[in-house]
Amino acid sequence: TMVVRRRMKGRRKWRKVVGILKDLEEACETPLGRLRQMVDAIAVEMQAGLVSEGGSKLKMLLTFVDDLPNGCERGTYYALHLGGSYFRIIRVHLGGQRSTLEVQDIERHSIPTTLMNSTSEVLFDFLASSLQMFIEKEGNMFNLAQPVKRELAFTFSFPVKQTSLSSGVLIKWTKGFAISEMAGEDIAECLQGALNKRGLDIRVAALVNDTVGALSFGHFHDPDTIAAVVFGTGSNACYLERTDAIIKCQNPRTTSGSMVVNMEWGNFWSSRLPRTSYDIELDAESMNSNDMGFEKMIGGMYLGDIVRRVILRMSQESDIFGPISSILSTPFILRTNSVSAMHEDDTPELLEVARILKDLGVSEVPLKVRKLVVKICDVVTRRAARLAAAGIAGILKKVGRDGSGGGRRSDKQIMRRTVVAVEGGLYLNYRMFREYMDEALRDVLGEDVAQHVVVKAMEDGSSIGSALLLASSQSVQTIQSV
Ligand code: BGC
Repeated sequence: TMVVRRRMKGRRKWRKVVGILKDLEEACETPLGRLRQMVDAIAVEMQAGLVSEGGSKLKMLLTFVDDLPNGCERGTYYALHLGGSYFRIIRVHLGGQRSTLEVQDIERHSIPTTLMNSTSEVLFDFLASSLQMFIEKEGNMFNLAQPVKRELAFTFSFPVKQTSLSSGVLIKWTKGFAISEMAGEDIAECLQGALNKRGLDIRVAALVNDTVGALSFGHFHDPDTIAAVVFGTGSNACYLERTDAIIKCQNPRTTSGSMVVNMEWGNFWSSRLPRTSYDIELDAESMNSNDMGFEKMIGGMYLGDIVRRVILRMSQESDIFGPISSILSTPFILRTNSVSAMHEDDTPELLEVARILKDLGVSEVPLKVRKLVVKICDVVTRRAARLAAAGIAGILKKVGRDGSGGGRRSDKQIMRRTVVAVEGGLYLNYRMFREYMDEALRDVLGEDVAQHVVVKAMEDGSSIGSALLLASSQSVQTIQSV
């Protein structure tokens, strides 16, 4: 009877855990109908954000970028890219043709976490000193009698209210950054100040959101590129909008009649989003609660923590994970790259899952439990990828490239080839995310439309693209001043 009782108890516990998984699956459901509602909601919010300042949770920020690079740019330019987890420094040389783009040097470093909570002096001096070392490495490369004045694009992956192509103030930090008293500061000026202090003859000539850099890079290679999305630590998108549709800004006069708009889609919100108790807890405990609701469901910074919260709940309500691990209670201890490693573990014994769980203080769990963990990863990532696809479809709808005729029902529009540039580690390195996203995008758009839409992945596009953008803005200036 002892054995029977123990078995029954075991079964009850297992049922409890399965119940938790079931609840999660239900709360994360994204059937096609719901995704379509998301697409509509995003397009509606985009419109609202363009009509008036504060008209929507989507900020729809002006970028002052009208002409995108097309391949004819010339010169040598630098970009410094502060992302969510990495920063990069690059030097590119442009020879006036697409094929002559040369990335001469590129450095990638992870951002020390201490920097994220430091002061603005520390942050900008760190960036300036990294740039100084990068430049010192060049030695006598230019071999000129006169010292060269270097032109730099600052790719800054946070929401900025731009006042021109080369200036703008931080609205608020996102992702893990929390440096106080910086909101409202001109970011380009801060960097310029730090460079001057070190006696570096470098001009911060463009301040560029990473999505805008990605769009520039995409457009440089393929002029059908009209939007760019970043799926990295955070998430965001930008796209090319007609200036007459940007109603909140009376007349942003541009020669091209269009302007790139930085959506800051991480802050999108709709009561129809499939939200779970884990999302609510994560948000409440985050440094920016009630903000960036969409990003917290699709951003690489957060996926791991949602998974961790589910595992923690299960381990609290049953002992299938053994004694409750204190490591498992540590926020953000489970990173999204571990989630992808577990999700894509193709060993029959799920050895990678076992290894990662062990790092979380959970050892010796049976295969059945490891499978459960894979399932959790699948549910959380699938929801993220499908919502991400709805976001892209929302943009296509807003610009009338979703096959619906842009509001004119009579003449169903002829679909033009449409390229969306995609950048960011989550998309590039997490195959299941990518596959789920591509599949959902095809499903929401329908085959007829989807065949004209190309999602183009690129690496380092944001950084290189910002340098290209700077180059193209300077060639416009030269033409004007001639
Ligand atoms: C920021 C955006 C950025 C995105 C991707 C978000 O947290 O608000 O400005 O584009 O992350 O890096």
